[in-house]
Amino acid sequence: MYEYLNYAEKVEANRKQKEMDNSVGFICSDCKKRIYKFDRKNKPVNQKQTCIICKKHSPDGVPLEGYVFRLNDCIPNHFNRVDKDSEASLSLHQIIKKFTIDNECVARKLAELLHKENSEFFHPDGLYEPYLDERTMEEFKNIAQEEWNKFSKELKYSRRFTHQKAADFFMGLINCCYFDLKKKVNGTNDFGAVTRSIEKGTVLYRARIVCSDEEKNEFQSAPNKHLGAPPSHLAANNRMSPPGISFMYTADTADTAIAELRPYVGDTIAVGRFIAQKTLTFFDFTNLDSLELREPRLITNPRNSQYYINSHLLSTLHALVSKPFRANSIDYIETQMFSETIRNYQKGIFDGIIFKSSQLEGGVNYVIFGNDSKDEHHSIEYNVKIDTQSDVTFYKVNAMTPSFKEVTSANKHL
Ligand SMILES: [Zn+2]
Repeated sequence: MYEYLNYAEKVEANRKQKEMDNSVGFICSDCKKRIYKFDRKNKPVNQKQTCIICKKHSPDGVPLEGYVFRLNDCIPNHFNRVDKDSEASLSLHQIIKKFTIDNECVARKLAELLHKENSEFFHPDGLYEPYLDERTMEEFKNIAQEEWNKFSKELKYSRRFTHQKAADFFMGLINCCYFDLKKKVNGTNDFGAVTRSIEKGTVLYRARIVCSDEEKNEFQSAPNKHLGAPPSHLAANNRMSPPGISFMYTADTADTAIAELRPYVGDTIAVGRFIAQKTLTFFDFTNLDSLELREPRLITNPRNSQYYINSHLLSTLHALVSKPFRANSIDYIETQMFSETIRNYQKGIFDGIIFKSSQLEGGVNYVIFGNDSKDEHHSIEYNVKIDTQSDVTFYKVNAMTPSFKEVTSANKHL
């Protein structure tokens, strides 16, 4: 095959062949695909080589040496070398298998190559402990929590509309939710585990307090208008949306919708059923409780990655966005900014947000962002419509039963 090549190509082909001849092992292009976390170019070889994994002869693949640079560069970020065996410690072979492929021969040969490259860190009989132990994870969590608090405070009291760092921080968190989470049980690394879709036809509930008989008649005669989301100019300050931006706040049941209103005993409440007109995709905060961070990728550096630090905030994120309090005009700023970031994420892949009710144990809220519709009224299309088959239901609040416990002041414990 050499005769068809020009001089430079012949030199290159010779170099590759030499590299292959001197290699301690060859991996064919098929087996190469099974070595995760690496994307290496195939190198065509002049003579067929025997793959050390599948033992087949193949015309293209990569020499094992091709993996040394990246492993040497990245493994020391994930592990510390230790002297003593412990519950957490791993052998070099186990680490190599974790980042490449579960194959004894590959692990043994790569361990030798790595030892040659960097004998101080890599030893075929060496023991290693993950850098990210529980204590470090706890530290990361605290750093992330402090950062959330810092940005929340700055957004409220110093800078709001041009706070790029806060915007980047929120975007980092959403990226992490979208790309780095997997199900706790049998989880695969599929993207978007945090999303949940509801099918066309799903029923959601919306409630309003009725102040007079006149209003009661209005709810009955024009439920879409009076139970639907308010027009933008009347939209109030809400957990996920600032005044002037009208999101549709709905709930999974009539009970949740009523509880979220925080009514007084004696109030009359109108509840309407709204039906999804198409499949709607939500960023589901309740999903976060059943998800966990996937294993760090080889190129992720746990020692200094802001991205990685942020990811530890995820377990508390749901509590942060759904925490109950008597809000004043600025208390919701950070959740409003966070929800706007979700709304704009990847050009609008999410139709809304799901989060737990702070007023009813087990209740779930569905907030729909809506799109500007193209009709002459420039109204907002939420893709949910009042159920015309069932009437608006009215409820009277009999009792609000508080549940509480006595708390002692922290000082008493000192
Ligand atoms: Zn093979």
